[in-house]
Amino acid sequence: MTTDVRPTQPALSRPRRKTRVVRVGSVVVGGDAPISVQSMTTTDTRDAAATVAEIRRLEEAGCEIARVAVPDREAATVLGAIKREIGVPLVADIHFDYRLALIAAEQGVDCLRINPGNIGERSRIEAVVKAAKERRISIRIGVNAGSLEEDILERSLKASHPLLAVQAYRLMAEQCDYPFHLGITEAGPLVPGTVKSSIGLGLLLAEGIGDTIRVSLTADPVEEVKVGFEILKALRLRHRGVNIISCPTCGRLEIDLFRLAAEIERRLAHVTEPLDVAVLGCVVNGIGEGREADFGIAGGKGVGLLFRKGEIVRKVKEAELADALVDLVESSLRHSALTPAG
Ligand code: SF4
Repeated sequence: MTTDVRPTQPALSRPRRKTRVVRVGSVVVGGDAPISVQSMTTTDTRDAAATVAEIRRLEEAGCEIARVAVPDREAATVLGAIKREIGVPLVADIHFDYRLALIAAEQGVDCLRINPGNIGERSRIEAVVKAAKERRISIRIGVNAGSLEEDILERSLKASHPLLAVQAYRLMAEQCDYPFHLGITEAGPLVPGTVKSSIGLGLLLAEGIGDTIRVSLTADPVEEVKVGFEILKALRLRHRGVNIISCPTCGRLEIDLFRLAAEIERRLAHVTEPLDVAVLGCVVNGIGEGREADFGIAGGKGVGLLFRKGEIVRKVKEAELADALVDLVESSLRHSALTPAG
């Protein structure tokens, strides 16, 4: 389905919807291309330095396509300067004024996101399409329920209610073979937004619908990228970086697992190879529950077990567990003891 599915994992039962291939700069969207994860900046786009800094943070988190709002002419004219400083494709988000799209195209962006519901008459949309065609820039048609006139609201594709969005995408999937950008718009703060996005995007992705995703959160956009990859990891559609398998803890717990799990997640955040790392509270269930993991620890009374592929490597004092696990993962990656998937 995608190139970085781990071979041992069960696949989804529904095959991916067949879509045509579209290029967003260096990123292929649609067809058999991996489902890409994108985000949108929160900075004032006119402040090019701040916008570049935020996009670089997004890139570090794995973001593959970055979108910026283009509210006015000044924002449109700095797009070229932003584009030159970043590695990921740049999407200009345009509402209302088609002339901003024309400037963005001249500035060399990789994709124009327009909303035909508010761009106005047909000739304006045609002018944008012509400019994009001349420069081989892709266009994303983004239709948010909140941005539409009442008369076309009922036909909206992107909505903040996940089930409404799911229905709309399903209907559209029957009508065309364009690749879909999935998003639950204005989903909310970190926790409710993650839940709504996971349900909406998860249902669709499990049905094979969706070619690129953006989790929209009222939070640091880096969180959007992290949640996006977690959704794809949970569905076994992509596996980038460390997948932490940690237990919820219970009365058997004898170590500070919350702190340990957070520390290990932070210290292995730089790993991009697909790895399952188990951080479990006790040996009673720890080894068994973590058997499928590439590496792991299981806590005990002041001491824990370090294991690899379900085999015990050695006993380690609690205070040294995080160091021992991180060292084992990093040294194994250095020696290519583990073959990354895809
Ligand atoms: Fe409880 Fe141990 Fe299971 Fe964690 S691994 S939930 S501590 S039994």
